[in-house]
Amino acid sequence: MVLGKSVIIYDLDDTLYKKTEEFGDILDKVMAEALVYDLGLKMDIDKAKELVTESYKVYRDGGEIFYRNHGINPQDLFIAYHRRKPVEKIVPYDNLLDKIKRVPAEQYVFTASDRYASEKILKHIGLYDFFKDKYYSVEDFGVYKKNEDAKVYREFCRKINRNPEDCVFVDDSYSNLEFAKEAGMTTVRIYYHNNSAKDKTYIDYAYKGIENFLAVVLGERTI
Ligand SMILES: [Mg+2]
Repeated sequence: MVLGKSVIIYDLDDTLYKKTEEFGDILDKVMAEALVYDLGLKMDIDKAKELVTESYKVYRDGGEIFYRNHGINPQDLFIAYHRRKPVEKIVPYDNLLDKIKRVPAEQYVFTASDRYASEKILKHIGLYDFFKDKYYSVEDFGVYKKNEDAKVYREFCRKINRNPEDCVFVDDSYSNLEFAKEAGMTTVRIYYHNNSAKDKTYIDYAYKGIENFLAVVLGERTI
């Protein structure tokens, strides 16, 4: 059991690896390239990248400004962006697999990356064999986000045949945790610089980085 629950569900991006500022910047550029080169957006790359960055800040979704104002289809961007994602630039944590293997709970991954990118990422960070039959993409539920509705969290639980009340959901993005909580899960926020979402009542626990969370879960640390 972990936090009194038998199941842990992890977000992937920026939870099971850490997105450095440099990598975040690369991803914004990659999304701009997907928009301009793959989807035919008439804009120069630098301007598109600026809008991606702004869109993340305002809507917590790099594509939202383009869906609203530039006629971009969310599904097309979802696919084009994930095809271009430079997974090889991710720096994996040391010994993460070894720690995860020792966690006393059933463990799953639920990601807003598509299946193509999430398989590549899991392989790159050394967790693919462990999560091979235990990772799901929003794609599997016919949606592109985890921060719109609690429904997708309930469907996830149905898929793994567990109740939301048995699950801990671990995510760096607090907009996802709001709906995991609404579905009935216990929520853990992973933060990096400072715990910026202290005031959010739907966050039950917060840890600085996944390694601290795992250290507490494995009894190697108390806070
Ligand atoms: Mg994330």
